Amino acid sequence: MVVGVAALLLDLDRTLVDIESYVDYCSAYAELSRLGLARGAETPKTYWGKCTKAAMDALVALAGTPSWRMANEVVERYEVQGAVRSAPMPCLAEFLRATEGYKKAIVTLLGPRATAVVLEKFGIRADAVVAREEGIRPKPFPDPVLVALRRLGINARNAVMIGDSEWDEASATAAGVKFVGITNGRTSHDFKIAEIYNSLCELIKVISKYS
Ligand SMILES: [Mg+2]
Repeated sequence: MVVGVAALLLDLDRTLVDIESYVDYCSAYAELSRLGLARGAETPKTYWGKCTKAAMDALVALAGTPSWRMANEVVERYEVQGAVRSAPMPCLAEFLRATEGYKKAIVTLLGPRATAVVLEKFGIRADAVVAREEGIRPKPFPDPVLVALRRLGINARNAVMIGDSEWDEASATAAGVKFVGITNGRTSHDFKIAEIYNSLCELIKVISKYS
């Protein structure tokens, strides 16, 4: 799948590492509600927990407004607590070994502090990291993927984005980057593309065919 491709753009949560299971997004969202920062947004359906989706929707809705920073700080506090306890997805180590030759960018909805904790904890090397940053509209907008390409110095056609969520696909597609989906065993999903794998374990077999 990655013949002739120079760079991999990688989602982090539940693509490489399971962070969501360890983050109390319900408490984060309750805190957002108390602060009057709960907002809905028109975003793709995906398989996250209800509270995770609600918290992410609020951050999407607040992007570019003065309230974003406060909402971001609330959510990131919980994410950092979860990041410390996060667990690798199956075959993470093998995937990192199989993809050593590629330039890599992490493109994640997580805040930068939680992202740094996870990358360090699992020894994930990245040539660029685009986390949830002020001034960059988050996935499902194309912006973080475009920023990742710029930071890597790579054209869209020379990269592939790998992610487990419909939000990753929407962002990659809008940025003109080919997308490869990881279902994590989901039988029902809204991915639009044909190239879908159950897990990193399954994806590795295809990558190693070409390397
Ligand atoms: Mg994910």
